[in-house]
Amino acid sequence: MKRALLALGLAAVLPAHASDRDLQLPEHLQQGQLVTGHAPKGAKIEFEGRRLLVGEDGVFVFGLGRDAPAAAKLHVRYSNGKAQDIALDIAKREYDIERVNGLPQHTVTPNPELAKRIQHERERVAETRHRNDPREDFEAGFIDPVENARISGLWGRQRIDNGKPMTPHFGLDFAVPTGTPIRATAPGVVSLAEMGMVLNGGIVVLDHGHGVSTTTIHMSQIDVKPGQKVKQGDVVGLAGATGRATGPHVHWAANWFDVPIDPALLPKAPEPDKQ
Ligand SMILES: [Zn+2]
Repeated sequence: MKRALLALGLAAVLPAHASDRDLQLPEHLQQGQLVTGHAPKGAKIEFEGRRLLVGEDGVFVFGLGRDAPAAAKLHVRYSNGKAQDIALDIAKREYDIERVNGLPQHTVTPNPELAKRIQHERERVAETRHRNDPREDFEAGFIDPVENARISGLWGRQRIDNGKPMTPHFGLDFAVPTGTPIRATAPGVVSLAEMGMVLNGGIVVLDHGHGVSTTTIHMSQIDVKPGQKVKQGDVVGLAGATGRATGPHVHWAANWFDVPIDPALLPKAPEPDKQ
């Protein structure tokens, strides 16, 4: 009987069951997506065993990895003690594969000393993505780090160098000249701002709350400091070709904690001057 009422859309007259009805998720989910949902007040939510922050307004967020399985589970415990498992269907995506052969082997496998430095830098960047601040800056939506730029590299591409599968391309590349201002894509706090990394060159990581962060690398100049608050559209530095880059461009990455997500799928905000 209860089910029939819900199906008929008459549940609004049954406040006791409002908690079930109010959980909102996007209809379509796909690999690489940042998923923003809303839950009724007091709900506790776990995604794949990880407890999510739930904001005052019920907002919560989680990321689907590049190779996320077709099915995942959201576990919800409502304030009335009732629990529910929500099955998520995740659409599979196709990614480009780029095979590059004939590269000098030492560029594919760096010498031990350099490999150690790269590993250390990777860990330092990874650390900045552990924070789980209750700020909800990600709710503002995102703008591109540079305006009206040509996209020169898509997220998720698999590169195979001399037959060795490399880390997939976890960025969206924009071809721009060195010196092009790079903007904060959403409000946030600077987690990392540093020049001179082996692969990244100049790097800025912005934290947008709830484990959501965005990163720009290969920068020729950095104009922000760790801990600094930024507004959407603020200039954080300039584009360049520092680190391992074949030419000037902005490599824009996004993460939900340690899970790389596709910046192209982030919720869009209107351009600041059009707001
Ligand atoms: Zn890139």
